[in-house]
Amino acid sequence: MKSRVKVRVKVSDLTRYLICPRLVYFSAKEHHEGMAKGKERGFIESILLKELAFNLHKFYGERKEDDPEPEPESESETEEEHAKRVIEDIVDGVERIYKEELKGVEKDFFEEVKEDFIRSLSMSTKTENGDWLEKVRTENELSELENAYGYEREHAMLSEKLSMSGSVDKLIRTEEEVIPCMIKTGKCPEYSVWKSDRVQLAAYAMLIEEEFGFETTVKRGFVEYIRNAESRETQIRRRDRALALQILKRVKRIKEGVYPEKGGNAPCDKCVFAERCETRKTLLSALFGK
Ligand code: SF4
Repeated sequence: MKSRVKVRVKVSDLTRYLICPRLVYFSAKEHHEGMAKGKERGFIESILLKELAFNLHKFYGERKEDDPEPEPESESETEEEHAKRVIEDIVDGVERIYKEELKGVEKDFFEEVKEDFIRSLSMSTKTENGDWLEKVRTENELSELENAYGYEREHAMLSEKLSMSGSVDKLIRTEEEVIPCMIKTGKCPEYSVWKSDRVQLAAYAMLIEEEFGFETTVKRGFVEYIRNAESRETQIRRRDRALALQILKRVKRIKEGVYPEKGGNAPCDKCVFAERCETRKTLLSALFGK
């Protein structure tokens, strides 16, 4: 008798489900990760922004244990010049850190995006977005926690019980708490955090509790909307956990082969699977008159 293969779900699948359940279906079938055609610039910018978020402490002069000795500052260096130098320094290592993700990107194109990125961020110290650097330099609850306790970068977790795995961007451990923090490069909501971010944090909370033992309860998490230099704290509520578990079950069914309905606000116009999705619809119509 054929044994049933255990389906594994990634936390990122839950977020994908909330955008459109069919994205989970096609991603599972085609193992499509990484860069969509025509979206290379945005993809590279997201990576650069993410790397900045891992190094914000450098903007306000903090140094982590594994940071190399900083270059001495020249007396005549202005704040803008210093910020530009820090940005250049951070994005310099990106090609090596994200080697796998950037596979296939032309060197010249990457350099061009990088240059534009550095220019736009350096300029944002003076333009209408002028508060980016200011905000980054201003202490907040998250930066205080990071300075006091540090964080583990991209902490990977796996729960056999839940059949779920995930890697949280930053994991802060204080004497009493374990706190997950996610870096988001997209739009920042006006208040609080997006629903999909709450679900994702609840999923990380459950993975953390499995790893750190029954006495650990994750009560809160952070989302860092790096484009806006905003960090938002959110409580991890029972209803977020319930929703995460419900979505986890649905994702498993999809990964087992169930073809789902499309999402209510599915972004079909910019979807990499649009063609396959359409072909499947046509096939189903021909077979079942759907
Ligand atoms: S084309 Fe639309 S419905 Fe199909 S997977 Fe993409 S977003 Fe979902």
